[in-house]
Order: sequence, then C-alpha cells, then structure tokens
Amino acid sequence: MNAPAFAPRLRPDEATIATVIAELNKRFGNRAVTSLAVRQQHANTLTWTENQPPDVVVYPQTTEEVQDVVRLCAAHKVPVVPFGTGTSFEGHTNAPYGGVSIDTSQMKRIVAVHPDDLDCVVEPGVTRKELNEHLRDLGLFFPIDPGADASLGGMVATRASGTNAVRYGTMKDNVLALTVVTPNGEVVKTARRAKKSSAGYDLTRLFVGSEGTLGVITDITLKLHGIPEAVSAGVCPFPSVEAACEAVIVTIQSGLPVARIELLDAAMVRGVNLHSKLGLPETPMLFLEFHGTESSVKEQAQRFGEIAVEYGGGPFEWATKTEDRNRLWQARHDVYWAAYALRPGAVSIATDVCVPISRLAECVEETRQDIEASGLIAPIVGHVGDGNFHVQPLIDPNDPEEVARCRAFVERLVERALAMEGTCTGEHGVGQRKMKYLEAEHGPAALELMRVLKRAIDPDNIMNPGKIVAL
Ligand SMILES: Cc1cc2nc3c(=O)[nH]c(=O)nc-3n(C[C@H](O)[C@H](O)[C@H](O)COP(=O)(O)OP(=O)(O)OC[C@H]3O[C@@H](n4cnc5c(N)ncnc54)[C@H](O)[C@@H]3O)c2cc1C
Repeated sequence: MNAPAFAPRLRPDEATIATVIAELNKRFGNRAVTSLAVRQQHANTLTWTENQPPDVVVYPQTTEEVQDVVRLCAAHKVPVVPFGTGTSFEGHTNAPYGGVSIDTSQMKRIVAVHPDDLDCVVEPGVTRKELNEHLRDLGLFFPIDPGADASLGGMVATRASGTNAVRYGTMKDNVLALTVVTPNGEVVKTARRAKKSSAGYDLTRLFVGSEGTLGVITDITLKLHGIPEAVSAGVCPFPSVEAACEAVIVTIQSGLPVARIELLDAAMVRGVNLHSKLGLPETPMLFLEFHGTESSVKEQAQRFGEIAVEYGGGPFEWATKTEDRNRLWQARHDVYWAAYALRPGAVSIATDVCVPISRLAECVEETRQDIEASGLIAPIVGHVGDGNFHVQPLIDPNDPEEVARCRAFVERLVERALAMEGTCTGEHGVGQRKMKYLEAEHGPAALELMRVLKRAIDPDNIMNPGKIVAL
C-alpha cells in the first residue's frame, strides 16, 4: 500500500501568516500573542534540539474556539501545533514551518466526575496534579504520573506513562474517549463512556500517541481508580544494576502486583542525594511501592524482600509515613533535574528505550558498560517493571567531540533495544528526533500505512508537520 506523495511542506509566505495573525487578533484579542519570548517558550526548550518558534500563540477556551483556529489555518494551509505544558523531550512542540501554536492552558475545566463509573471528563489543559487534587476527597485518583506536571492533553498525545504504569498501565489503557478537532475543523467524538466497546475502528487509540499530527484533543474521558486502602513504599540497595534488574525480572515474572518499581543507578542516587538531600547509600537502588489491603501489602513486601536477598540486595527500608513516602516519590520524579547536580552547566539528553522484561538486565548491563567505555557522565533511571529505562547523558554542547561521542552512544542504545525486540521510545514519543528510527522499528510497510493514515486525515499536512513520520 502506498500513500500518494505529499507536496513538500513549505513555510507559508509572510503575507499569509500576516493575514492569519490579523484574523486571530480580531477574534481572540490579547489571547493571540506574537512576542518572541512567548513564541520561544512554546517551541522546544529541553535537551539538544533547537528551538523553532511558531509565528503566533493563541489561547482558546472552548472546543468551538479551537475549531475556529483550525478552520482559519486550514483555509490558509498554515501549520497548527497543539501545546500543553511543553515538557516533551523530542522537539514535539517545535514549529519548523512556522504557524499557530494552540496553547490549551485556558481549557482547564473538569467537566464531570462519575465516581460510580470510575471515570471523569476533563479539558486538555488540566494537569495530572490538578486532577488528582480535585479527586482526592472522593477517594479516587488518576495514576499516570510523568515526572513533569504535564497537561492531560499532552499526556494523551504522547501516550505518556510514569512510575505507576507497571500496575495501572499507560495512557493507552486509561483513556476511554476523546473529542478531537480534526484538520478540516470537524469535531469528532471517538467513543462513549462504556468501559469496553467493539463498535468499529478504535479511533480513541489512533489519537492516543498521535502527537498533535492528526487533530487537537479538546476533551478527554479518563478511567479513574480508587485510592488503595493501604500503601507502602521503600528503597532497596543492590550491589550492581544487573543484580537489581534480575530482581525486578523475577518480581514481575512471579506476578507480584507491585505498583511501582523504579531503578536508579549509583550515579543517579548521587544526583538525588545532592538535589533532594535523601542521604541514601550511593549504590544501585530500587524504589518500590505496593498497593492493597494492610495484609496484602505486608505480604507483597515480604515476598519482594526474599527475592532481593536472592540477588544480594537489601536491607529493604520502608517509609511508612505518608510525608516520607511523598518525599521519596517527589525525589524520584525530580531525577531529571537532580542529574544536573552531577555536572552543573551541562545540557541533559533524554533517552527512553524499552525492552521485553526478560531482556532488561542484559540491556541495562550492556548499556552500563557502553557508558563506561564512552567516558560519558550518564546516570540511569528506569521504570524497570515495564522494561523501560532512561540514560541521561550530561554533555557540554560546545564540545563537538563530546557531542559526537554522545550521539554515537545514543545510536548504539537504540540499536541495542531494537535488536532485543524493544522500542526506541517507551513513553516520550517520537517528535522530531526519533523519526529516523521508525523504519528500523516498524518496517517499511507499517510506516507506509502510517503515512496513508496521515494523508487521509490531514491531506494538507497542517497538523504539527515534521513530526512522527517523514512524508
Ligand atoms: C522532568 C520530566 C520528567 C518526565 N517524565 C516523564 C515520564 O516519566 N513519563 C513520560 O511519559 N514522560 C515524561 N516526560 C515527558 C513529558 O512530560 C510527557 O511527554 C508529557 O506527556 C508531555 O505533556 P505536555 O503537556 O508537556 O505536552 P507538550 O510538550 O506541550 O506537547 C507534547 C505533544 O503533544 C501534543 N499535544 C499537546 N496537547 C495536545 C492536544 N490537546 N491535542 C493534540 N495534541 C496535543 C503536542 O503538539 C506535542 O506533539 C518528562 C518530562 C520532564 C521535563
């Protein structure tokens, strides 16, 4: 199957951009902004990807306003780049062909919570922490927790996950339905609130992970979960990352229902100690959490303790108080920033491979040896219960030799994961920087099918052009 070739995407001419900006100013007043600082904040600001600002940023408040922006852009074939909180790592929000950034931060209504059905409907600008604040008194929570307090729209669009995914799944498992403004300005509802459905193609999951390339998400129906009766968290040191990974593999294979199981190598523990003052022994460490009843949590912890000892790990230390637990997980969520303490002034590079769980120890250990041989400062942290880990090289971007060394390391990391039947990205998404790996990961036929879909839904290539698939 071949997609008809797209005309090459070009930057609209200045007159077209000026017309679109004038129309947006008329319709949105001071909710259409062209200052350079604001435009730059809406392009990529993290890692080594350059900043490519849009021509204008607009702040709609309703689905109808999003429709108006998209229709205007469609009429002039001007790019549209949806924006949540801008915490994506791979140049997702860059505007390489200019155009209009649609910032959803003024679409923050929690439209409905249905405690009896364990679901809710939210607008895309609500962040994960804002939703959980709202839900807490109802005894409910939304488990997907990327390290940043990202928008739920951005999390849907990147198919995000986090530390709880080993127990609760990723965004792909927790979205029931979406409202989407498609590239021609139509409003599509992808599904209803039923927990399951066999009614036709699964449009919800087509848009989950589409990174703004197929439409703008304007409301989201999410699954919710009851706050567990008992929660306990702890840390467990290991003599090596390999031993820690072996313990994780056995934990998962034995069906122990861990809620969180996260690896930090010794370098990352050092960073966390410097940044969050945890005072942990600087050796590879697993951070764990168990959810259940008082007795089941105790039993799970005991069983994990036994597995840890088999691999030379322990002692397993528990944080029983809620404040201590929160401090531990906040420190875990802050590792990206903590790593900078290892090399102040460096630029941090995000990587995100994921392999089948049985290959985890091998993949992490080979990667560790590669880091050593490369002479890079590159701590490791991972959602290892899913086989997903991040190596975070800290480099001097002004040293071309070091940049080249780091690039070569990242290529080998991805090749290693793909050779182990894994993926170049477990949760961050493709954006601009991982496009080059998709053919090796999916093969030409699957990639062509993605192009066919993109072409059919967005024939003028206005939706976040230059991302996911090269056309
Ligand atoms: C410190 C730190 C830790 C992180 N930890 C994790 C982690 O553990 N797990 C993880 O998965 N990610 C993690 N991330 C990455 C990032 O937080 C996620 O990718 C997140 O889902 C991005 O959400 P956002 O609101 O910032 O989206 P943005 O960066 O604003 O946008 C991301 C993409 O989604 C599209 N988009 C945004 N809103 C919409 C919408 N309404 N409709 C259609 N498309 C839209 C954009 O066009 C873009 O392509 C981390 C990032 C940081 C900085």
